[in-house]
Amino acid sequence: DTLVNQIAAGEVVERPANALKELVENSLDAGADNLNIELLAGGTKLIKVIDDGGGIERDDLHLALHRHATSKIRSFDDLSRVATLGFRGEGLASIASVSRLVLTSRFEGAPHAWRVEADHGGVGEPEPAALAMGTTVEVHELYYQTPARRKFLKSDATEFAHCEDAVKRLALANPGRQFTLTHNGRAQLRLTRGDLARRCAELLGDEFVQSGVRLDERVGPLRLWGIAGSPTLSKASRDAQYFFVNGRFVRDKVVQHALREAYRDVLHHDRHAAYCLFLELDPEGVDVNVHPTKIEVRFRESQGIYRFVFSALSKALSGTRA
Ligand code: ADP
Ligand code: MG
Repeated sequence: DTLVNQIAAGEVVERPANALKELVENSLDAGADNLNIELLAGGTKLIKVIDDGGGIERDDLHLALHRHATSKIRSFDDLSRVATLGFRGEGLASIASVSRLVLTSRFEGAPHAWRVEADHGGVGEPEPAALAMGTTVEVHELYYQTPARRKFLKSDATEFAHCEDAVKRLALANPGRQFTLTHNGRAQLRLTRGDLARRCAELLGDEFVQSGVRLDERVGPLRLWGIAGSPTLSKASRDAQYFFVNGRFVRDKVVQHALREAYRDVLHHDRHAAYCLFLELDPEGVDVNVHPTKIEVRFRESQGIYRFVFSALSKALSGTRA
């Protein structure tokens, strides 16, 4: 089983940022309001995620570290309607197969916490531990026993940049939750809870929010909302392009094309603008299962999505033309 896990890990966890994303998504799924993330050496030495979510019961700790053990899907039919971020049940198992992972959790109402340690797939027995609430996951020395993988890792600075990107995406999609991020003991992000405008101001700058257009368009089950930045923004913030489909960060050609065309059509602007936009649709209309890292999606009706995104953004931008 360890080998299967390690192969799966190669897909799910290419680098520390992927592991971090899996951990943070688990915390979000567990209803955490406060997420504290600590990294050492770009996440290669340590990735630690501390949350205040619902926690895991003692008897479920082993299960959480098992492949295809997920508490989030009850039937195969559920797969087409996933609302939670994780659903494959391979995140923790994959990470645990290529690191030394310590999982400490205090289930809501439990008298104390429990801790299990997994070293390259071998899972120890739960032991009583001290933790006020929620779950803390520590991933030590990612890939330290799989040098073939390890050599693909870039410098700590590069790996940290990927981690920070991952946190920014998750934080933009969850402005109502508080995030902190430290790297080598130094505070890098401290995001207080608020609305999208506030989170965007914190992460993409005041200028982005002040010169941007707010939109919220609905057609049937489709909704596009968020902030579309002005293409005349200073260069620094222009590159920030965030698009979320049902709460997940996504990079999609159909969507990117629709957005670009709307900017070009309405503002006659060819350079790409910054944006932070959320597309919501019936979960059955989108397949999020295309890739393990889930950055790509497949729409059932991509033509319809194209037309909707294009016209929704065009309408919003038209309102701003002097
Ligand atoms: P998935 O997220 O796809 O279900 P994971 O391997 O990422 O699979 O997690 C396995 C299970 O462990 C989850 O379904 C959940 O029950 C539990 N779990 C993991 N992380 C947390 C957390 N931070 N808080 C509460 N439960 C968690
Ligand atoms: Mg998960």
